[in-house]
Amino acid sequence: MFQPSPWRADFPAIAALQRQHQTYLDNAATTQKPQAVLDALSHYYGHGAANVHRAQHLPGALATQAFEDTRNKVAAWLNADPQQIIFTHGATSALNLLAYGLEQDFQAGDEIAVSALEHHANLLPWQQLARRRNARLVILPLDAHGRIDLEQALQLIGPRTRLLAVSQLSNVLGTWQPLPSLLAHARAQGALTVVDGAQGVVHGRHDLQQLECDFYVFSSHKLYGPDGVGVLYGRDRALQRLRHWQFGGEMVQIADYQASSFRPAPLGFEAGTPPIAGVIGLGATLEYLAKLDANAVAAHEASLHGYLLRGLSDREGIRVLGTPDTALASFVIEGVHNADIAHMLTEQGIAVRAGHHCAMPLLKRLDLDGAIRVSLALYNDSDDLQRFFDALDQGLELLR
Ligand code: PLP
Repeated sequence: MFQPSPWRADFPAIAALQRQHQTYLDNAATTQKPQAVLDALSHYYGHGAANVHRAQHLPGALATQAFEDTRNKVAAWLNADPQQIIFTHGATSALNLLAYGLEQDFQAGDEIAVSALEHHANLLPWQQLARRRNARLVILPLDAHGRIDLEQALQLIGPRTRLLAVSQLSNVLGTWQPLPSLLAHARAQGALTVVDGAQGVVHGRHDLQQLECDFYVFSSHKLYGPDGVGVLYGRDRALQRLRHWQFGGEMVQIADYQASSFRPAPLGFEAGTPPIAGVIGLGATLEYLAKLDANAVAAHEASLHGYLLRGLSDREGIRVLGTPDTALASFVIEGVHNADIAHMLTEQGIAVRAGHHCAMPLLKRLDLDGAIRVSLALYNDSDDLQRFFDALDQGLELLR
């Protein structure tokens, strides 16, 4: 039975893509934007752009106000304090900021625990930090479903663990990770905890007072907002441990030729001109999302996800990776290379992702050189999935 999305018309790009005969199912990579975001960007640029936190003139004051309004909205979205919200250029830049800003805390022999399913953005900065400080990267193994194996993880996280960095929701396997137990255990061992919320933030609202991590990061562009903007949340105690990393602009308190002092968070970690329009656009996204019925969105996504999983399991020779909880499914097909499937889906206007999904070590661990990933957003409907399945069936007839 046809399942429409009540929010589809809010996203003008979906109709535009359809006119180009494109069905967009690569939402874990980036999402389309609601009209409210396009309007906010157009209003900012159309009514006078200005730099923030430095000019006393009216355009500067208005830009600063809109920019800081978004900080308040992000804080409200995550149940945090605005002073705990640092704007970055994306989840990757937030994680790099952490890996440099916390570097002084690490000594030879210290351990950094990450899971086997991390996106490169939550692996490489820690790997490089470990190399710089002679620390050891500990990889937490997964269970058969594609979740961090809690029993083993609790044994591997010990008194030498200085930091635990894990994804909330896997971008390859679509599995929620057992964060409450993991974070509580790491905290009890005295480790700092970092949660990569790049995928998790898109599905459901997460209360950071309940999650109790020290740091949480996400990218605006995966949450229906503009690209070039990320968020780094830090608990007060954790932010105080962060050293300034990038220098210049309004992050300075007093500058002199030989020495300078710097502001605390958040501005002290926002060197240079920030992505002003993008931040204002993120504010519009959150305002848009806050008006939606969160239960209806969750039910719609769950129902589409069920349709996707059933369709895949009904077809012979398809193996879904792990046991996806939500939002996406990655799969391989017996006897057919993922690049060939991707090619034939592309030919038929189906936009899905193929390859290693920026998680090469995970794919290697699964003994694969790639997989196809279908990922959903709130504007998708069951016809999008039907078009994908029709294209898949047609293609497989030719390929097999
Ligand atoms: N972490 C996860 C789990 C992701 O899926 C992604 C992007 O795919 C990132 C981090 C990096 O996000 P960005 O490229 O926006 O910095």
